[in-house]
Amino acid sequence: MIIVMRPHAAEAELDAVTTLIASLALTSHISRGAERTIVGVVGAPADKETLLAQFAGLDGVESVVPISKSFKLVSREARPERTIVRIKPGISFGGTEIAVCAGPCSVESREQLETTASAVAAAGANILRGGAFKPRTSPYAFQGLGEEGLKYLRDAADRNGLAVVTEVLDVRDVELVSKYTDILQIGARNMQNFTLLREVGGARVPALLKRGIAATIDEWLMAAEYIYVAGNHQIVLCERGIRSYDQATRNLLDLSAVPVAQGLTHLPVIVDPSHGTGIRNLVAPMSLAAVAGGADGLIIEVHPNPAAAFSDGPQSLTLPMFAELMARIAPVAEAVGRKLPEPATAAA
Ligand code: PEP
Ligand code: MN
Repeated sequence: MIIVMRPHAAEAELDAVTTLIASLALTSHISRGAERTIVGVVGAPADKETLLAQFAGLDGVESVVPISKSFKLVSREARPERTIVRIKPGISFGGTEIAVCAGPCSVESREQLETTASAVAAAGANILRGGAFKPRTSPYAFQGLGEEGLKYLRDAADRNGLAVVTEVLDVRDVELVSKYTDILQIGARNMQNFTLLREVGGARVPALLKRGIAATIDEWLMAAEYIYVAGNHQIVLCERGIRSYDQATRNLLDLSAVPVAQGLTHLPVIVDPSHGTGIRNLVAPMSLAAVAGGADGLIIEVHPNPAAAFSDGPQSLTLPMFAELMARIAPVAEAVGRKLPEPATAAA
């Protein structure tokens, strides 16, 4: 159930609502919008009808809306205005600016990261990506540099005025990864790792939740609800392709998932055309299509020498290819009322 407060309702009126919620052994989640404050009520009330009437009768309450979907707090009903996930000053998801995350699949060395970070920043990206803990299908494939890789990421990003997004694979590493990153990525293979979702829900760092390899949009939003209800409201969703019968591409990039999800949730939705296609030459057309279709950002694999990449070389753009793509995205973004980020300013 969602309780919509009247515009400019007094704090005391809001307190009366949350006090009643607590007295019924239910939990409140407050979202303060520009116009209105909305209170999400979570729990299993005994008698819904009486409860609806009880809340509707309180001062300052405009309406009480029952939500029938299995995801509630992340739904549009709970918050009609779009959430802007703010990473740091000048870097956000869900506003007019499109966020662009770029970098290698895996963090391989300090030099690789420095070269990539300065090139993607110069081309207009605002967030550096790279995996230090890698979810590899084979246990014999490169598993990542761990904490050493996190340090390389942080240093290279700071030197170039970028934020960092990196994957956390294990509940035991959430604290460690949070020390180095600005965004905790939950990978496709972990989308329904409910223990990890709850742990990231308790973190103070925003989350990037990738869609599972065979997850429906509803399942993806329920996974986001796990993070949200555990207290972390800064969530970005990422469409990265789903498993299909067709071998022509690595995955089937579901671009319609962007407007579908945006219709169902207030959270920003971005696209990963690299894992979505698995093929370097498809990354540019799918990036342009994603932006034209309203995506709130992109996450793109870029490597100084894709042929030598430890992972995902075939889908990684070279540094010049990424710069060329950014130049092509700018007019597409403008045509749909969006813009690319302001150029990153390196830390002094
Ligand atoms: C990644 O972004 O490095 C990654 C492993 O992606 P996914 O979880 O979408 O496969
Ligand atoms: Mn990858």
